[in-house]
Amino acid sequence: MADQTNRHRAKKSLGQNFLKDPNICRKIADSLAPGADDLVIEIGPGQGALTEHLVEAVTGRLMVIEKDDSLADALAARWPSIEVMQADATRFPWESLNDNGPCRIIGNLPYNVGSKLIWDIVSRVTTLERAVFMVQHEVALRLTAEPSTKAYGGLTAWVRNFCRTTYLFKVPPTVFRPQPKVDSAVVRFDPLPPGERPEDPEALARLIKLLFQQRRKQISTILKKHWSDHVQSWFDEKGIKTGLRPENLTPEQFRSLSQRV
Ligand code: SAH
Repeated sequence: MADQTNRHRAKKSLGQNFLKDPNICRKIADSLAPGADDLVIEIGPGQGALTEHLVEAVTGRLMVIEKDDSLADALAARWPSIEVMQADATRFPWESLNDNGPCRIIGNLPYNVGSKLIWDIVSRVTTLERAVFMVQHEVALRLTAEPSTKAYGGLTAWVRNFCRTTYLFKVPPTVFRPQPKVDSAVVRFDPLPPGERPEDPEALARLIKLLFQQRRKQISTILKKHWSDHVQSWFDEKGIKTGLRPENLTPEQFRSLSQRV
């Protein structure tokens, strides 16, 4: 097995940077804290650096989704008891998980698809108990940013309508082979109670995309074509100035405004 692992040439196109520090792997896996019956899904298991710890900790179903077919084959051979899916995680039907019980999702995400996966997972998996993802440090800052800061953007406003996010710790390039060019960080996602989630996620997504496409402009300018008394009264009721910029609105204000525009 070690032999086969070493022969694998990392594919840049698949964002393959393999973790080589078992202590960091354990720390990431531990922060998922799966319950006895939870379905656990790992995205991009690669050579199994995190999987190794999950196999120990998970007592329910463990499923991994790996796009690279040779890595997927090696994982299935090494751990016959886990469910290995050779597939592109960006095309996974996340809603299908909602027919099962509680689930937890983890991964050292391929950097080119990390934000998209997080956008989809937090909004579509209603049975999510917790997620833990390693992403580029800069993306971790966006996911955990406060309104009116430079790092706050559309991804922040969207994700925080579904989850609380916690920046756990930074991971330097030196613990990977090959080494990435940038720092990474681990972020924990804890879903909001069902009553606090958006009723109309599509409307929210449309508003967030529209506003952050022009984040330098004033909200009233961006929304000019969509303006109505209904929209104006939202600003009046909330005591929010129409001259603010998108980054000044809280995640909750985006949700509330999306019901008027
Ligand atoms: N978890 C491992 C590997 C991380 S590298 C570790 O920490 O060492 C990212 C992994 O995601 C690689 O194994 C890569 O092949 C896989 N991957 C890349 N794009 C993917 C996609 N769209 N769907 C599923 N897996 C993907």
